[in-house]
Amino acid sequence: MAILAKTGAASTGGFKTLLQRPSLPSHLPSDTLDHLPDTPGVYLFYGENDLPLYVGKSVHLRQRVMSHFSADHKLYKEMRLSQQLHRIEWRETVGEIGALLLEAQLVKSLQPIHNRKLRRQGSLCAWRLKDDAGFHAAPELSYASDADFGRTDSVYGLFSSKRKAESTLRELAEQHQLCLVQLGLEGRAQSNKPCFGWQLQRCKGVCIGKEAEALHHARLRAALSGLRVETWPYEGAVGLIEQGSSGKTAVHLVNNWCYLGTAESDEALQDLMEKSPRRPVFDMDTYKILSKALMKQQLKVRKLSGVTTEHSS
Ligand SMILES: [Zn+2]
Repeated sequence: MAILAKTGAASTGGFKTLLQRPSLPSHLPSDTLDHLPDTPGVYLFYGENDLPLYVGKSVHLRQRVMSHFSADHKLYKEMRLSQQLHRIEWRETVGEIGALLLEAQLVKSLQPIHNRKLRRQGSLCAWRLKDDAGFHAAPELSYASDADFGRTDSVYGLFSSKRKAESTLRELAEQHQLCLVQLGLEGRAQSNKPCFGWQLQRCKGVCIGKEAEALHHARLRAALSGLRVETWPYEGAVGLIEQGSSGKTAVHLVNNWCYLGTAESDEALQDLMEKSPRRPVFDMDTYKILSKALMKQQLKVRKLSGVTTEHSS
């Protein structure tokens, strides 16, 4: 497997070690932490019968794992986790971005019981403004299961539920004096009557012809602009090169904002590419991690089809 994986498993340990670490979880073999490196990476906590309890990431694996145990008497949640913990596994990564990508992937595939942010892609949604629908058209709620957000223009979000999508649009409407009737969030009592917000000066009157629809639409686009989802800017898969502080580099294979794995060598990368789907589905976690990293120029882009040129994105 191409992922920079070094899996640690625990065996038995001595009484002395146990005394030195009074807060080590009782079911955990006492020498577990002896092998834990302080590199960037992802750690996995397992309970009885290998039940996945928690997946976390850090640029200092050892420090981070230890911090779970030093807090166990203060926080109920940490205490519960310690009591249930039977085994720790970890995977080293070159840097923080690799750790973030791997963490998100493992949280989705293992669904550990203590990771609160279990994301269900199915209800992931966004507002969409269709370019050809005219200025009067309300934003359309579009689901990730129906539309490919990595390849669709004018998508704004992303939201984990319809309720969140609507409340965000309502807030924006209030801030920007947009009309709730025009946005499709409110019905109209009578066809020639203004919306409720008009009386409270929360609407500039598009619903009764006092504001041009084109202007209202332009203001809506401006209000939504901060939420715009960037379409995938490449033709297909690219390698995103991360350089770790140790001097090691790794290539994260990504296509359509979907993380496909990490490789250390050209051979491993080739292998990964062959196994990867050609049109992978947009992934919100990867989108959030990578759009930020690309904006900050933390990664170099390696185009994989045709000539392999490198440039900063
Ligand atoms: Zn109105």
